[in-house]
Amino acid sequence: RADIAMYQAKKAGRNALIFFNPEMQDVINARASLQGELGKALEKRQFHLYYQIQVDSSHHPLGAEVLIRWIHPERGLVPPDQFIPLAEDTGLILPIGQWVLETACAQLKAWEKDPLTRDFVLAVNVSARQFGQVDFAAQIQATAHRHAVNPRRLKLELTESMSAKNIEGIITIMNTLKAIGIGFSLDDFGTGYSSLQHLKKLPLDQLKIDQSFVRDLAVDSSDNAIVRTIIVMANSLDLDVIAEGVETEEQQQLLMGMGCSRYQGYLFGKPVPIKEFEASLGSFD
Ligand code: C2E
Ligand code: MG
Ligand code: MG
Ligand code: MG
Repeated sequence: RADIAMYQAKKAGRNALIFFNPEMQDVINARASLQGELGKALEKRQFHLYYQIQVDSSHHPLGAEVLIRWIHPERGLVPPDQFIPLAEDTGLILPIGQWVLETACAQLKAWEKDPLTRDFVLAVNVSARQFGQVDFAAQIQATAHRHAVNPRRLKLELTESMSAKNIEGIITIMNTLKAIGIGFSLDDFGTGYSSLQHLKKLPLDQLKIDQSFVRDLAVDSSDNAIVRTIIVMANSLDLDVIAEGVETEEQQQLLMGMGCSRYQGYLFGKPVPIKEFEASLGSFD
């Protein structure tokens, strides 16, 4: 059957519409089984948080971004790009997102004992679906309170795609959370389709320059101009700027020369489990 469908697809040519073939059934089945397993992953404790360090211009650690990992007994490590969209579609992102927040707050609390980590800020990614809940601000506030964590040590990362639908609702939630000290960073900045509108309307604290602009910073004059402009704009809007995907000394030097003051990327550390993260802190000042 697969052979026949393939032959027909080829014969029909590249632009033809193929309504159904056995491969599509495979994709549907794979998605259904992933979805079923995703539903059980929380109770089976298969999610883990990895921590990626964020530093200032003198390589001094400021905290970390928490990045979720699904470690499945047979599939191994499933990257978030493969299950977060599915979790968003099914609504599972709500309990998963709450688990991420709880775990991050517990970690912030544990760090209070050590002067080195006491002031660390954790950046947590949030999905549009989470922001769409009317009681989202109350949930965050209750979680920070339950763990007795100062909300100033939490930063929420939003993406531009999320604010397309209900920007006023998002602004209301953001203002409630800002009032208790929670920070907001606009992730993957520059990759959305109405970046400047968002910049103007959203009560942000930080822009996070997308790694696609950082990658070829040294060789691509357009990327160089874009990054330079983002930093100047952020500075004049009184937002701080962090560059993501910083992999080389050269990139960091260029960014610093342009006025960027915060960095995240493999140059400083990959996302790693908490034990490894804490062990790596010794190599920073
Ligand atoms: P993001 O928030 O933009 O995270 C940055 C991604 O870049 C991470 O991929 C990180 O591992 C990767 N990265 C960091 N430094 C470098 C570098 O120097 N070079 C390169 N090439 N890559 C680097 P990751 O961990 O696979 O996460 C992918 C996306 O999944 C994240 O993008 C975020 O949008 C989403 N995500 C991760 N954790 C969560 C979560 O807890 N909740 C939600 N809603 N989304 C999450
Ligand atoms: Mg992020
Ligand atoms: Mg990003
Ligand atoms: Mg991203």
